[in-house]
Amino acid sequence: MKCNDFLKELTDYLDGTISEGLKAELDEHLHWCRECHVVMNTTKKTIEIYRDNQIYELPENLRTRLQDAIMTKCASHKHTKKTSDK
Ligand SMILES: [Zn+2]
Repeated sequence: MKCNDFLKELTDYLDGTISEGLKAELDEHLHWCRECHVVMNTTKKTIEIYRDNQIYELPENLRTRLQDAIMTKCASHKHTKKTSDK
């Protein structure tokens, strides 16, 4: 599982609406991926705040921001490839 796959499933993971098999894969990713662990915690807290305000859905721009942040971090680990081709 890649970070991008993880992030796609993250909200379902936190909602507990994913299958056991997929959950196990996400758990495994969290074990070795510190970045996603941080994002997961941040997202979880954000969702809790929104729940308190009776707004259940994660705003799209927040999801995009988190995704950008994690992908930038992941990309910075390997300097083999640039993400922004002209
Ligand atoms: Zn990751």
